[in-house]
Amino acid sequence: MIPRVPLLPTAFLEPRHEEIVAFARSELAVPLTQLDDAFAAGRLDEDGAARAAVKALAGTRLLHEAVLGEARSLCVARREVAWISGFADCLLALQGLGSCPIRLAGTDAQKRRWLEPAAFGAAIPAFALTEPEAGSDARQLKTLARRDGDAYVLDGAKTLITNAGIADYYCLFARMAEDGRHVAFVIEAGTPGLVVARRLAAMAPHPIGDLELKGCRVPAEQRLGVEGGGLDLALATLDRFRASVGAAALGLALRALGEGRAHLRRRRQFGKALADFQLLKAQLAEGFVALELAHLAVLRAAWLTDRAAAPAHGAGHAADRAAAAAASSLAKLEATEAAQGIIDRAVQFHGGRGVVKGSVVERLYREVRALRIYEGTSEIQKLILARELLQGSLAGEG
Ligand SMILES: Cc1cc2nc3c(=O)[nH]c(=O)nc-3n(C[C@H](O)[C@H](O)[C@H](O)COP(=O)(O)OP(=O)(O)OC[C@H]3O[C@@H](n4cnc5c(N)ncnc54)[C@H](O)[C@@H]3O)c2cc1C
Repeated sequence: MIPRVPLLPTAFLEPRHEEIVAFARSELAVPLTQLDDAFAAGRLDEDGAARAAVKALAGTRLLHEAVLGEARSLCVARREVAWISGFADCLLALQGLGSCPIRLAGTDAQKRRWLEPAAFGAAIPAFALTEPEAGSDARQLKTLARRDGDAYVLDGAKTLITNAGIADYYCLFARMAEDGRHVAFVIEAGTPGLVVARRLAAMAPHPIGDLELKGCRVPAEQRLGVEGGGLDLALATLDRFRASVGAAALGLALRALGEGRAHLRRRRQFGKALADFQLLKAQLAEGFVALELAHLAVLRAAWLTDRAAAPAHGAGHAADRAAAAAASSLAKLEATEAAQGIIDRAVQFHGGRGVVKGSVVERLYREVRALRIYEGTSEIQKLILARELLQGSLAGEG
């Protein structure tokens, strides 16, 4: 493996976060790389590889922290796993994202039944919000839930749902048929009326597909939170994970920077190493600067999220939560856009070899693309930040 480009130290991380880094590097790099290789060689299909990735993460502190721990632990875990394998990062992220609505709004019984197994890798969750007619505008959900005695009956469709088909349960968002209020449920795979309508093939491997709900009867005790609380719950979940998408992008970009640096040192043209050309040196330095700045933005967002949640700081203080949310939007936007540029440049450093399948930078180029789209596109992050600026509500302003 090509040596890593080291990141400069920051004040945001503590020894417990460094332990996660050390564990990922020493214990996960080999098994997750072997898994990617087995998948690439066709010895595992996508579902098999996805389950194997969760199995490789099962029981690790890294997975437990990503599901139940702090935002900084989640970000560090995603950065490190994405450096090794973008595919494994998707699975790690979804263990957290798919179970987070239960963490935030579940009853003790729901937590015992669904959240804890996700934290130990014994269950695979999914987060089912997006619909054919409701993407960026999640308010417009068309999936309807009708109360019927001690249950709800759901009808509708979901699209682009990660883990569709391999999930053991879905945290799914709908609206009340009676009055349009948003509501959330946890629904077990195999529940009659819930079907995986189709699997989708993404440009980089990613277990993803569409769901259909036809007269799907869900016991009332599987509702998450209150009727009318579904949208807030979905948005709170996304707020919590947004900075970690930036962290994953940084993991991919850091890998690309290392690959690019190694190639510049190794490859000779015009009688000297590529690393001796000023133009390419400048591009390498620019990539490093962009990565470092985005890294600071991600860790600051995670630190603010942890601070807003800390009891000592008066957990739930509205101004702290707002600052954390704005910083998370900024971090996701900055890190995913920067990572795309850094990886593109690493492909360019490699010349023609950079676009040949099987090269690391070619894989990274495909893997990074979706991160600018899911969990709120770059445009939506800009709209969020512009709204905060125009309302004068950034960090308690106004
Ligand atoms: C790999 C992958 C995994 C995913 N996993 C999940 C999952 O597990 N669960 C889930 O629920 N969803 C998932 N999604 C869906 C994802 O969240 C949506 O794709 C995303 O929210 C954008 O919605 P959309 O695709 O409908 O695009 P649209 O909302 O139709 O947007 C299309 C384009 O228009 C732009 N746009 C939209 N509105 C505005 C506006 N007001 N101003 C300016 N520009 C605008 C967008 O930025 C985008 O560029 C996943 C997507 C991908 C690619």
